[in-house]
Amino acid sequence: LYGESRNNSKGLEFGLARDRSRLVEDMAKAPRAVEGAGPLYPGAKARGNERSVLSPVDGATRAGTVREASADEVPAMFDAGLKGFARWSRTPVDQRAAAIARLGDMLEAETPRLMALLAREAGKTLPDGLAEVREAVDFCRYYAAEAVKQFGEGTLMPGPTGEENRYRLRGRGVFVCVSPWNFPLAIFLGQITAALLAGNAVIAKPAEQTPLIAFEAAKLIHAAGVPEDVFILAPGGRELGAALVAEPRVAGVAFTGSTETAWAINRSLAAKRGPIVPLIAETGGINAMLVDATALPEQVCDDVMMSAFRSAGQRCSALRLLYLQEDVADKQLEMLKGAASELSLGDPMDPATDIGPVIDLEARDRLLAHVEEMRRSQKVLYAGEAPGGTLARGTWVAPHIVELDRPDALTRETFGPILHVVRYKASDLPKMLETIAATGYGLTLGVHSRIDATVAAVVDRLSVGNVYVNRNTIGAVVGTQPFGGSGLSGTGPKAGGPAYLGRFALEQVVSINT
Ligand code: GLU
Repeated sequence: LYGESRNNSKGLEFGLARDRSRLVEDMAKAPRAVEGAGPLYPGAKARGNERSVLSPVDGATRAGTVREASADEVPAMFDAGLKGFARWSRTPVDQRAAAIARLGDMLEAETPRLMALLAREAGKTLPDGLAEVREAVDFCRYYAAEAVKQFGEGTLMPGPTGEENRYRLRGRGVFVCVSPWNFPLAIFLGQITAALLAGNAVIAKPAEQTPLIAFEAAKLIHAAGVPEDVFILAPGGRELGAALVAEPRVAGVAFTGSTETAWAINRSLAAKRGPIVPLIAETGGINAMLVDATALPEQVCDDVMMSAFRSAGQRCSALRLLYLQEDVADKQLEMLKGAASELSLGDPMDPATDIGPVIDLEARDRLLAHVEEMRRSQKVLYAGEAPGGTLARGTWVAPHIVELDRPDALTRETFGPILHVVRYKASDLPKMLETIAATGYGLTLGVHSRIDATVAAVVDRLSVGNVYVNRNTIGAVVGTQPFGGSGLSGTGPKAGGPAYLGRFALEQVVSINT
């Protein structure tokens, strides 16, 4: 375990042909499909009505098969989880942490195989896939180290009477973790490892679009030493998710996904009139970046490309609305259009690819419908082209740049490679900040300015979780840039930060009159 001199996992210089080709060769050796994925809990049926998972890259290649759990299986999962919890919550935190640290090492050793699966099942490019595996590894190591610090014997609290007052954190019970397809490994494992380290049993429902990577990760969790009744995998869709959350024995829910679903979970938890349990939700944002006339145009161009189009714009943190000070807008827009036209869309396994497909047909259709609406009511400045040939049946959305005549013309999060731009007058900056605040979201914000007072004013006015100054707005680093927002963007605490584990735990104080 690493402590004070914490090191994050190692990266790779994609510019170095030798390292890159070794990685690509190793990825090519990975099995082509994951067969027999399904629910994992003691007594689970091995077979049932399986469905094929097709790759979004070409809409045809089979990434594997999965049997989804049905809502009827939920009580048996909780029966098992409660048994597991009784032992796991009493397992010394050092042992829990050792298992999760071992999981981190196993993930790191399996990087090429996991990247190949991320490319096939989720359309992740090589840099995105590598960043994701590294983030998963970092979550394991960081949370394991934090757990050892925060859990265990507890802390003696000062008191005047000679009593012994011990404050300690312990597991709550069976936690339900519901994770998204956009980080099917890192966010999936981030939630699970935190809940386990805090002493809970976990039932995890991965996104419907990405059950295979979840299944592979789940097998590693067990192989690392987490018992099968302590970590339970429940692949399935909406109905299963609703049944898990509605089960009376749920001790808490961790959820990453849409604001709508977070509201629905909240309602379901409240409707039970049972114990009041925590919901840890991380949702989306209409993330903005402000660029004033003192910003460096080339740097802005790079950072905007990265923030808006990396991962095909499918990050909660991605830039949706760029505010350009009008004096520099024309020049900056020319640069942005030029840079967007250089982005290459294609097979995510190809190291030359910048942008892979979006996750599925539904996402593609929703994004393209948004572009059509923008064509009618606003101005589309740039539209890229989707790949053809063997990839034509994949779920592609090419990068787009749309100019809005007013900032509130964008009313919802568009989860894809569509960048909106609006011009503003320097004297209108306070009004622009009000507009950003009025969206109610507060996840990421970018500011490009060389004037410290402007930066300070913007940061001060907006209660946004992660503010990035003179840089891009994505790729928060575990333990360095704890990630998460407020308002419509979620409840906190921040993932990859020191307060995260505590929210999964029960606080207890034992006062002994000695
Ligand atoms: N933590 C990721 C980032 O900083 C985003 C997570 C998400 O999309 O949910 O880019």
